[in-house]
This record gives sequence, C-alpha cells and structure tokens, in this order.
Amino acid sequence: MTEAGGLTKLQMYIGGEWVAPSGGDYIESVNPFTAQPWALVPRGNAQDADRAILAADEAFRNGPWGRMHASDRGAIIHRLGALIEKHADELAEIEVRDNGRLLAEMRHQIAYVAKWYYYYAGLADKIEGTVHPCDKPALSYSKHEPLGVCVGIVPWNAPLLLFSLKAAPALAAGNTIVMKPAETTSATALKLMELVEAAGFPPGVVNVVTGYGKEVGEPLATHPKTRHIGFTGSTATGAHLGMLAARDIKRVSLELGGKSPNIVFADADLDNAVRGVVGGIFGATGQTCIAGSRLLVQREVHDEFVEKLAAFTKAARVGDPCNPATQIGPMANQMQYQRVLDYIEVARNEGAKLALGGKHPEIEECATGYFIEPTIFTGVTNNMRIAREEVFGPVLSTIVFDDAEEAIAIANDSEFGLAAGVWTSDMRLALKMSDRLEAGSVWINTYRDISYTTPFGGYKKSGLGRENGVEGIREYLQTKAVWISTAKEIANPFVIG
Ligand code: NAD
Repeated sequence: MTEAGGLTKLQMYIGGEWVAPSGGDYIESVNPFTAQPWALVPRGNAQDADRAILAADEAFRNGPWGRMHASDRGAIIHRLGALIEKHADELAEIEVRDNGRLLAEMRHQIAYVAKWYYYYAGLADKIEGTVHPCDKPALSYSKHEPLGVCVGIVPWNAPLLLFSLKAAPALAAGNTIVMKPAETTSATALKLMELVEAAGFPPGVVNVVTGYGKEVGEPLATHPKTRHIGFTGSTATGAHLGMLAARDIKRVSLELGGKSPNIVFADADLDNAVRGVVGGIFGATGQTCIAGSRLLVQREVHDEFVEKLAAFTKAARVGDPCNPATQIGPMANQMQYQRVLDYIEVARNEGAKLALGGKHPEIEECATGYFIEPTIFTGVTNNMRIAREEVFGPVLSTIVFDDAEEAIAIANDSEFGLAAGVWTSDMRLALKMSDRLEAGSVWINTYRDISYTTPFGGYKKSGLGRENGVEGIREYLQTKAVWISTAKEIANPFVIG
C-alpha cells in the first residue's frame, strides 16, 4: 500500500506476494459520503487472473496445504478469525470509506464475520465419510474431498461478510481460493490479506485479484483450472456465469437478487412489526439482497400501520455514516444512487402513491454524498415494476391484502425467492405461512437475521446452492467412493454387477 496524489494505492495479493496489475491501470475507489476518491484499486486483467489461478492450483497440488492435517488447517483458519476480531474496527473504517455503510453497523458486522472462520475452522476435521452396507463382497466407503481452486466473486454491499461466507467453508474443506471483490469496494479484501499472512496460510492458498467483472472476473471463472465458481451478485451476472459453468462442467453456487415480501397480519404486534419492516428495507440503506422491499399489509390495519411506519421512518437520522447517531447512510455509489432515483420515477409514473421521501434529502450534511430519503409508496399492485424488479435501495412498496391465501399468492408471485417475513401472533398461521412461502429464508416476527450456523440461499431466480451451516461446506466438497474387495477372486470377469 502506497500513497499516490493523496490517494491510497493498493496492490493485489497473488501467491503470497503483493503485486501491481500487469496492465498498470487502477480504478478510483470513491467515498460515497464525500463523493471524493480515496484509494486506487488495481485494475486486473486476464493475465493477472491466470497468474492467480496458477498460484492457487500449485498451492493445492504441491503446497503444504493439501498435505496438512485438517486440524492444522482448522487452526490457521481459526487464527484468521481471531485476527479479524482484533482488527474489526480498522477493517470497518475502511469498509465505510468504500461503501458508506454505517460505521457502528460495520464494526459489529466485521467482528461477527470472525465467527464464520471459527465455525468452519471447527468443522475442518469433522468432515467424515461413510461406510456403506454393501451388497457385494467388498468394503465400500465414501469420503469427501476438496475440489481444488475455488473462485469467489462478490458484490459491494457487504464486502467482507460476503467474502467470508465463501472463503471460510472453501478453505475448511481444503481448497485454495482466488477471490474477486467488487471493483468499487476492494480495499478490505486486500487489507485482509495482511491478516491472512499473519495467520500463517501457505503462499497461494488465499489470493485476491481486483478489477472489473468482464476483465478479470470472467477469466477467473472460465479458467480451465477453476473447479468451483461461487458468485454473489445480480441475477443477470449470475445467470451468465451459470451458463459459462455449465459449458465447462464446473460446480457453481449463486447467491442472487430478491424482491422479498414482508407480510404484516392484523393480529401482529404492530409496533414491533414497524421496527422489523424498517430494519428490513432501510437498514443498509436498502442495499441488501434480503431487503423486505414488498410490504404486504392486511386491509384492516393498513392505514394505521402505514401511519406508524411513516412516523417512525421520518424520525430516522440520515447523514454521515461515521456519526454514531446516524441511522441511514448514503447509497454505496453514484450508479446505484441514479438507479434508485430512476425507480422512484418509475413508481410515480405507474401510479403508486408517494407516502414518504422520494428525493435527495435537503440536509446540509447530505449535500455532497449519494443520499436518498427513505421512501415509502402505497397503493402498489404486484404487477407494477416497482413490485417486481429489485431496486436495491431505500424504497418500500406497500401492497394491501385481505387474507392469508391472498398474501401467499401475492408473495409467491415473483421470479425471486430469497426471503420472506411474517408478522403475526398466531403461531398456527405463522407455520402455515412458513410452509407455503417460496423463499430460502422465512422470518417470523423478525427480519434480516443471518447466522454462520443456518443455511442461507435462494429459491427460484434468487440462486442455487446454500451458504452457512454444515450445508455450506458441502458446496466445496466432492464425494469419492472407494471399493476394497473381500473376495478371493473375481467371480466372472465378463459379467458386471
Ligand atoms: P453484479 O452482478 O454487477 O456484480 C457482482 C460481482 O460480479 C462484482 O464483483 C462484479 O465485478 C462481478 N462481475 C460482474 N460481471 C461479471 C462477469 N461477466 N463475470 C464475472 N464477474 C462479474 O452485482 P452488483 O450490482 O454489484 O450487486 C448487487 C446485486 O447483488 C443485487 O442484485 C443483490 O441482490 C445481489 N446480492 C445477493 C446476495 C445474496 O446472498 N443473495 C447478497 C448481496 C448482494
């Protein structure tokens, strides 16, 4: 890391070395609160991708990582977790400079990220095989082996968390990894490599290359030595990478977009539901894949609920993400800011009624940054674009429903199926809803909870595969069956079976 014209110039991390991009180009990383660049991120290309994949492949085949006992690999992964916990505040400050998330939230989130490394470190030496009750004169057993080089491609909304959801299980399974963070938020992934070195990972086990998706992400994904593509991002890019993976017969897991329903029944604790709905859509300024962007409210409490919701939201402090009193920060980048403003216009033109927000806030502190007021639309119908397309910003679409069947029909009428929330005090109804909702996560009287212990992933166009929990490590393993004959001789060499 050096200083260039007042900007921090970053380097990539390949094969245990800090390297400049082979093309010599850099991308400015802009602080969304000030709209000023603060760092220069290496603009990697296919040559850099090739170098990183070859380093990871060499580390997998010939380095100490593959020969190490799983307990020792686990110990290194655990050490990385402890270092992340120790440096959480420093990493959080960098992350906020890159994407404008609240400093208080990022401190908490990054300290929590350490748990992914602890959890999977503990799992590393518990990947057990099976002895099969074989019907042949043989001992047949199966074991679970790593895949080889795993590529992880992640977006900008929670850079280190989403990095770790892939890195921790992939490493615990015994793979080597090449990670590509988003071009606008690469600084924490590169900072993390200092901790990777300190934790004692052998060179080439963990690599980070940076740059644009087409220029470096795609060469990583399509490299002949890449065995697994783990992608988090938009459904369009995920579909494209999925097709490339199918072409090359590579394993792939996709964590994609959402348009998640948050369903409030009349018998819910409405004040608590307000808190959950606000957290679901305005937390992280709406820039989460699991954003509860469709609010479904039962008719008899609709007006009361919207009134409470608007009042609670209006009182939220919008401003400097580093001020501990701030509750809603800026959008992460200029492109996203413009995209969300365009969607607000789309909703207005479709006839949705603006109940709150809808523009750049008139607050001095917010003058230069990419801020958008928390925005609530009512009178939305599920066929409007604002109810069907992912906005990825602080825009809530309110839809009214009469009974549970109608709520289920509206909720499931979406190409996405990432998450859903249900607010009710009737547990029978809650369980019925959890059975019928087409979503990878269903939250009852809560929203946006995730944990290293609990599988996470999408139904329908929200993704393929699962992250977190024991299921998360299976994405990074392949099964080998071994047969040891107990017969004296082969009965009939010309008959199989
Ligand atoms: P994006 O698809 O544009 O980019 C994500 C990553 O993919 C970036 O690192 C980008 O450089 C890379 N990329 C882009 N084109 C590529 C290509 N052709 N080949 C290889 N890599 C490529 O997504 P985005 O707009 O930056 O991120 C927001 C999206 O991410 C939203 O749709 C959101 O829902 C989704 N997301 C999903 C989850 C989840 O777990 N389901 C979590 C967070 C974000």
